[in-house]
Amino acid sequence: MALIETNDGLWFQEDLYPEISCGFKVSAVLHSERSACQDILILDTPALGKVLVLDGIIQCAQKDEAIYHELLAHSGVLLRQTLAPAEGGLDVLVVGGGDGGIARECLKHSGVVRVTVVDIDPHVRETMLAHFPELPAGAYADPRLTAVDADAVGFVRQHRNRFDLIVADTPDPVGAATPLFGRNFVADCHAALQDGGVFVRHAGSLLLQTDEFCRTRGDVAAVFGTQCTRTGLLATCSYLGGWFTWVSAVKNARYPEADSALQAMRALFDRSAPDVHWYSPEMQFASQVLPRFAGEPVRGKNR
Ligand code: SAM
Repeated sequence: MALIETNDGLWFQEDLYPEISCGFKVSAVLHSERSACQDILILDTPALGKVLVLDGIIQCAQKDEAIYHELLAHSGVLLRQTLAPAEGGLDVLVVGGGDGGIARECLKHSGVVRVTVVDIDPHVRETMLAHFPELPAGAYADPRLTAVDADAVGFVRQHRNRFDLIVADTPDPVGAATPLFGRNFVADCHAALQDGGVFVRHAGSLLLQTDEFCRTRGDVAAVFGTQCTRTGLLATCSYLGGWFTWVSAVKNARYPEADSALQAMRALFDRSAPDVHWYSPEMQFASQVLPRFAGEPVRGKNR
């Protein structure tokens, strides 16, 4: 675990990449434990506020977590509502996501009637509630939320044609999270969605994890179909590598283009009026403009 004493006090250095790292000053270690699944660390920092670190890898920071959580959650909810108004409200599955950030954002929509968070490690949720409650911000007390302590691989396989939205809020593809990245898992998510259901996930850093981005986009496009899949960018200061990526796809429906969907999503967004810090439908569609080398699903290359 990369906590380093320096003349300037305690610093954290991330363990994700062997040859490049990001670091920040730590004002306090709020919690440190080894659960059955992973090392869990909550830090307080002058630059980023509270930070959740799992196995030496930054998961989310108070300063910029809204950029990631809002985009993945609201883009998915609004896209689903635009494609087909779900009778009886939306049934959402969050894969991983034990920190509660994606659930918190989905629950801002009154049209969401159920959110199931399936995380393999209950200690993540318990630690967040005890030491970083600002992030779930009451999501776990919402009666619409069910927390399932299980491996999401098996959980997703048990469901067919059920969910309106699946958000895969997974760590990087290491350890227990590795099977959440293959094409088989994407196919299981596809099967667990209703027609018109939406799948959203992050796909790594465009520059530092280009292979992961291309593979993830390829897997999603292979399962859902290229016409049903879109990718976009988001940038935070706590995920190293500049541009980070997201992939979203719709089941058995053509992915709506900005021209037709933006107005509908803006109207839904205004009606729902979730209290957001960063997201807008305009920003979502603008973020789908990729740099040239990454523009085509099969042409991405490592530089
Ligand atoms: N936003 C983060 C990111 O971009 O890296 C992900 C945060 S979230 C805390 C990731 C969660 O996935 C962790 O709480 C971890 O316990 C959970 N997880 C890892 N492997 C899993 C699996 N096989 N099934 C369910 N949850 C899993």
